[in-house]
Amino acid sequence: MTVLEPLSLDGFVPYPAETAARYRAAGFWTDQTLPEPLFATVARVPGKTAIVAGETSLTYAELGDRILRIAAGLRHLGVGRGDRVVVHLPNIPEFIAFVYAFWELGAIPVFAPAAHRRTEIEHFVEVTEARVYVTVARHDGADLAALAAELKATWPSLEHTVVLDADGGGADLDRLLAHDPLPHERRSLPGDVALLQLSGGTTGQPKLIPHTSETYLHSVRASIPLCGITEDSVQLTAVPLCHSMSVRSPGFLSVLSAGGTVVLAHNGSPDTVFPLIQRHRVTQSSIVPPLLLAWLNSSLKERYDLSSLESLHVGGARLSIEAARRVRPELDVILQQGFGMAEGLVNYNRFDVDEETSVRCQGRPISPGDELLIVDDSGQAVPPGVPGHLLTRGPSTIRGYFRNPEENARSFTPDGFYRTGDIVERDENGYLAVVGRSKDQINRGGEKVAPEEVENLILGHEGVHDVSVVGIPDAILGERVKAFVIPRAEADPATLKLAAIRKFLRDRGLASYKLPDALDVVAEFPQTAVGKVSKRLQRVPQN
Ligand code: AMP
Repeated sequence: MTVLEPLSLDGFVPYPAETAARYRAAGFWTDQTLPEPLFATVARVPGKTAIVAGETSLTYAELGDRILRIAAGLRHLGVGRGDRVVVHLPNIPEFIAFVYAFWELGAIPVFAPAAHRRTEIEHFVEVTEARVYVTVARHDGADLAALAAELKATWPSLEHTVVLDADGGGADLDRLLAHDPLPHERRSLPGDVALLQLSGGTTGQPKLIPHTSETYLHSVRASIPLCGITEDSVQLTAVPLCHSMSVRSPGFLSVLSAGGTVVLAHNGSPDTVFPLIQRHRVTQSSIVPPLLLAWLNSSLKERYDLSSLESLHVGGARLSIEAARRVRPELDVILQQGFGMAEGLVNYNRFDVDEETSVRCQGRPISPGDELLIVDDSGQAVPPGVPGHLLTRGPSTIRGYFRNPEENARSFTPDGFYRTGDIVERDENGYLAVVGRSKDQINRGGEKVAPEEVENLILGHEGVHDVSVVGIPDAILGERVKAFVIPRAEADPATLKLAAIRKFLRDRGLASYKLPDALDVVAEFPQTAVGKVSKRLQRVPQN
């Protein structure tokens, strides 16, 4: 076998050598690449069901075979180690098959949310110099086949597009599957960059988060016991597959290495998922608070047998204590709150915490290697019970965004701590409660929106003199997106109505969850004492 040298990739911020050595010596980082735990399961329980989606069901042997055929087809196209590729798929089995196929080759998938549109996807292709774009022909009314053709014509790096039917399948897939399976073997190293996830961020376009097999699998291995994942687990994935909670916390990587079953759903509404829970005897699901509220408030829960559900993992956004209290009595499951970030750090409440901690806290770090600083505005550590800014460093947390030195100077301290932008309170037992946020970011039910990205696009409207975008409180989503617009003197008011601005943004290819939910046309913005726009005052609900 050829001996592989470490992958060198410009724009990746490495860990200091002594830190990496320490993480390996401690067993946080192991000699494993992302596809290896799955192929160990394929060898162990080939006949077990790995994935269910609609009427499709794949055993581990079938999944392994698909991955290796797709990998062979991609290799035939010239795809190999270190190549960046954009995977832009909804919750279909091909998402999982393609990312494993790319990992098998040592290629680096960008996990693009299916809701993303031209503006975001083009940014990923440009920054990563992607060679391949994989998508579905249509999604939520958008013509992604046309987008694929347009991107290929525009970006010289993009040599191949794979366009699947809306529900997966199709001629492009058949062409790849026609290849004989590649032998499963190591074609990358555990320390190579293996994937690029996205950060909602606060400024401009989404930032790219480079994980290696070492950083990612550390999180997966820690999640498996803490979330109770076993060979008997049947996990329902109802939030987009690209999110950390669907991939690694605990996600399909955990379930597929344990030998359980992943059930995919296109969305998390009760009428979609309750029948799936009943039919497949689902034991666990990871969801965002608005979905939990929808489940709690649905009368359908009496109509379906949900008794197989053992635990619900809830995170991504703030869950109210009132909603948390309802989970056990109304759904008869263990509520496991989690608080994490694609940048790395993950916290879970342990299953045995007392009732108060389970409803008030969002967990404690999953790794003994995680270092947390909770500090006041002047950087001094605060005692337990006092809110402070959370900074973190550890074996799952990146040291920098991909190809983004300016943002890295802002978001990371010189000694490698990531400034999360979250304000947390730690109790005497080390459990964290997320009590606020210092970053200018909107958390719309778990989907993150950077106000500046939306503002920059609205500023391109000919009738707009100035704009400010903020998150306003919302009973279900936690926050919604609101735009305040100061018109130009000559502007036609009809072009500045909410529907018109939403269409304007959609036409520019912005993901729909980032579109303003509300809009006010105003003469001026409220100001802070130092003359800046007071977003705090704009967030206060107006009557
Ligand atoms: P993402 O990288 O998209 O997972 O977003 C990470 C951010 O989501 C965190 O930095 C928090 O601001 C927020 N977040 C995640 N989980 C929670 C939670 N349980 N409660 C409050 N905010 C959360």
